[in-house]
Amino acid sequence: MNTRKQIAINAVLKAGELCQQVQDEMVSTDAIQKSDRSPVTVADFGSQALICNAINDAFPEDIIVAEEDAQSLKQNPTLLERVTKYVIRFATEDAQKQKVISTKNICEWIDRGSGEISNSFWTLDPIDGTKGFLRNDQYAIALAWIVEGEVQLGVLGCPNLPHQLDVPNPERGCLFVAVRGEGTTTYTTNGELLEKVYVSENASRLAESFESTHGDSNTHIKIAKELGLNKPPLQIDSQAKYGIVARGEASLYIRLPNPAYPDYRECIWDHAAGLIVVEEAGGKVTDANGKSLRFLSGRRMTENRGVVATNGSLHEQVLSILSSM
Ligand code: AMP
Ligand code: MG
Repeated sequence: MNTRKQIAINAVLKAGELCQQVQDEMVSTDAIQKSDRSPVTVADFGSQALICNAINDAFPEDIIVAEEDAQSLKQNPTLLERVTKYVIRFATEDAQKQKVISTKNICEWIDRGSGEISNSFWTLDPIDGTKGFLRNDQYAIALAWIVEGEVQLGVLGCPNLPHQLDVPNPERGCLFVAVRGEGTTTYTTNGELLEKVYVSENASRLAESFESTHGDSNTHIKIAKELGLNKPPLQIDSQAKYGIVARGEASLYIRLPNPAYPDYRECIWDHAAGLIVVEEAGGKVTDANGKSLRFLSGRRMTENRGVVATNGSLHEQVLSILSSM
């Protein structure tokens, strides 16, 4: 597990550097729309290429189930050139030794993420919260190692997240690392150890998605009121919300299906890393019916509805409010 952890940390940190650089230098052609009309950028592809290649170099047999594939990239030479330029800039020395990293290599690296769910596999969201990334706001790079359906390792890179909320001029850029049975630890984006983090009994705040269509904010806020969470809700993009619950700055992250999309089912890479980050910090994560999240049912969690992540002590109360609704 230790080698996997170190490979994952290094790869997510590098991918975060790439994403920040793309964000600084973004041009209009760097973002396109996918067939489901969600955005994808040079940074999503670059991050996936770097991380899949790093895993492939260290563990050639490992299976990776990642959000993106190279199909649309192959038909867009301008975008592919841009992705290649950034990946070359941030690729490991081993990869650089291959002398020329070609556009073909980049597509192959990205497509290493097209694995099938199996007994053990990685799941990767190269940029979770691409909409936040495009607003220069919060996003995360989320990588998890799952064995027999249970997340064993989660690495969550949040390059824009303040080390602490609610303080003036905070330092930014956090990495959350959780190993089953070993707790959750935070690092800076330079890889320096910050601290072990724990959920809090006192954080009277709800965290929910910034994007109103990604949840059911009216109901989230109603539940928060019933629980007596009186601080204004924190609306931020990506699995950074799990990090915020894990380090005790919110006591609840809730994500109910938006009433316009009642059949929406969550993707595994949007929750696997976040789940272990909260659990290892002492919190609890289930779906809205109290069922544990099932990572073996497919790329989408067809057996689950919504997500509830809490500091643990609030959990039963949240589920009981939900069941009475
Ligand atoms: P967040 O930043 O927490 O809103 O999460 C971003 C993720 O929301 C993306 O990675 C998408 O997979 C996911 N998403 C897209 N559409 C929806 C939807 N209608 N309901 C819930 N999640 C969604
Ligand atoms: Mg995502």
